[in-house]
Amino acid sequence: MALGCPKNVVDSEKMLAEIIKSGFFLSSEVDDADVVIINTCGFIAPARAEALEAIQNAVACKSKGRVKRVIVTGCLPEWIGMKLFEQVDGIDAIVGLGRRNDIAQIIEKTIVNQKPMAFLEKDSASLSVNDDRARLLIGPPHKAYLRISEGCSRNCSFCTIPSIRGPFRSKPQELVLAEAKELAESGVVELNIIGQDTTSWGADLKIKDGLALLAEELEKIEGVEWLRLLYLYPAGITDKLIKVIARSKKITHYLDIPIQHINDDILRKMRRPDSKERICRLIEKLREDLPDVVLRTTVIVGFPTETEEQFDQLVEFIKWARFDALGCFKYYQEQGTQAAQMPGQVPENIKNKRFKELMLVQQQIAFAKNKKRVGSELRCLVDSLDTDGTGKARFYGQAPDVDSICIIKNCSSEPGQFIKTKVEATKDYDLIVRQI
Ligand code: SF4
Repeated sequence: MALGCPKNVVDSEKMLAEIIKSGFFLSSEVDDADVVIINTCGFIAPARAEALEAIQNAVACKSKGRVKRVIVTGCLPEWIGMKLFEQVDGIDAIVGLGRRNDIAQIIEKTIVNQKPMAFLEKDSASLSVNDDRARLLIGPPHKAYLRISEGCSRNCSFCTIPSIRGPFRSKPQELVLAEAKELAESGVVELNIIGQDTTSWGADLKIKDGLALLAEELEKIEGVEWLRLLYLYPAGITDKLIKVIARSKKITHYLDIPIQHINDDILRKMRRPDSKERICRLIEKLREDLPDVVLRTTVIVGFPTETEEQFDQLVEFIKWARFDALGCFKYYQEQGTQAAQMPGQVPENIKNKRFKELMLVQQQIAFAKNKKRVGSELRCLVDSLDTDGTGKARFYGQAPDVDSICIIKNCSSEPGQFIKTKVEATKDYDLIVRQI
């Protein structure tokens, strides 16, 4: 069971491949398995709650007798360690991020051993870069995530990631390219580039403008049609990177740029080096240099000390920037982070109110932008096909798993194929398209 972000998906896919290689069979049903493995996310409180619920369900299946062992892997054991055994009774093994590749041996040990075991090696996780080749993709075989780095050294004051996943480490270029080539040869046409902060790629290897150079190399890989850059830290987007994207035939004009806030005082307290002026200038430049660019961002509302005026400033900015997609998070007081200690924590009811208000503003923007696409032609990648002939697809401006989709009635193509479509209508955030 894979929970959490795309970085966790990559870890789950690698573990699945290791498990298969060792002769085990996979089952997608929890109560049909001898061993249940839950790959968890520990990033924020709701993710931990979701993980704990999944673990409790698996342990409940074990107490009924069918499931023999429950193993918990990923960020949650990395973050809370042995305390996890106290939180849920009945876990057989906890596995930290540094032992991901040993999952098959750990399963074997867990089967023969009656006592709960811990496989936590914090040091190896904080020093190494994983080789993610030879994965078993969880989704359709034409799209994949390509992780180019581990960890993060930005130290945003609200974030636990640097403590969980360690400092930033670039995956060496030859390893990134070898993995991308392997994925392309297996039929992947869309590579989604991920890392906690992809714009830092190469910084620890003393490579300037690393992501731009890496993207140019990735573009040469045959078979890949879409290269999508996700998690771009605003201050890390250089003129060189924009130029590379502008002249590329494969790097999608879709940029995911988490800004988190727009008020300078809040940004400073978040320990982000951006400012309102720089972010506005960046958006203007992107729209000038890439007229068809689709922009996604994420923001946090209710950060400590956020006043009504600062929130209003964020709302006004969102109305001005008109992002195509926006993820809004209510601030969580994460223990162990700087922001959790700050005075001026915002009450939950105010966070809820601000969240709703901002999402409503964004909804109007997204719906209006969708309406403008009616009548236009879009090249889409088919993701899936239902038995009634309805296809689900995406154009370059829709990232997998997080964005809206294109719905095709009477689709005559197979998943993994690119098709020409015309937008006929909208359905909430989605587009209804006809194959042409
Ligand atoms: S850039 Fe900031 S928010 Fe993103 S992972 Fe790093 S510390 Fe966390």
